[in-house]
Amino acid sequence: MSNEIKSIHEFELNLICDYFSNLKRQGPGSPEVTQKALSFIDNLTVESKIADIGCGTGGQTMVLAQNEPGQITGIDLFSRFIDLFNSNAKELNLQKRVKGMVGNMENLPFQTSELDLIWSEGAIYNIGFERGLREWRDFLKPGGYIAVSEASWFTEERPDEIEKFWQLEYPGIDTVPNRVLQMQKAGYIPVASFILPENCWTKHFFEPQVLVRESFLTKHAGNKMAEDFVANMKHEAKLYAKYKEYYGYVFFIGKKF
Ligand code: SAH
Repeated sequence: MSNEIKSIHEFELNLICDYFSNLKRQGPGSPEVTQKALSFIDNLTVESKIADIGCGTGGQTMVLAQNEPGQITGIDLFSRFIDLFNSNAKELNLQKRVKGMVGNMENLPFQTSELDLIWSEGAIYNIGFERGLREWRDFLKPGGYIAVSEASWFTEERPDEIEKFWQLEYPGIDTVPNRVLQMQKAGYIPVASFILPENCWTKHFFEPQVLVRESFLTKHAGNKMAEDFVANMKHEAKLYAKYKEYYGYVFFIGKKF
């Protein structure tokens, strides 16, 4: 058996989807952080239209819905996530205001200037930070807000091991001041940026995975790719523990200028 760690891009999407569909979150974050990011956004009413892009099964979307009054559309590429999203909304009796739709962030189903707020936690890397900010801006009303969380470097220089890991996983990763400048250049006023606390990775992302791994491995017994995927996720948690001073998730909040 090889112990070589693969890049996440080498795994089948179905397998990744299966692993993460058993989890509340598909990326680092927490209800407290979603609420904190929301605290920088004003003027939302029952009429407000909000999109949560790359919503996954909707962990953060339900927190949004419980803390602001508008209509939310969650968009994700995977129908399995969207089915879970819609049943989560129903369970919380939010189905009138919160609707999940299968869609692609590269081709969003919104009208020009339709949205008051675009939300996206741990997902904009799929299109790229600058491209996402630029293309999605068109769907926002003047004065509308965007709030995205994104893996970011905290320092100018990093140890080789972690630099190489991120060059494979997401070569577009950048530093916080560069991201803020990119946000300004894409036509937003940078309203706030803050680093997500460690528990968004540990308590809310890595620890829940320990519980689902066993049933995932039982279900996919004998599947080498499933075993490698679990090894990959464990490796990611180890690297985080070792190099957390150098990188993490950052929330960036901007207002359309
Ligand atoms: N916001 C969630 C999920 C983050 S994981 C959370 O924080 O828990 C990233 C999500 O982006 C996944 O659900 C994935 O299916 C979705 N995704 C990836 N590429 C996409 C695309 N092109 N369009 C829409 N969603 C996409």
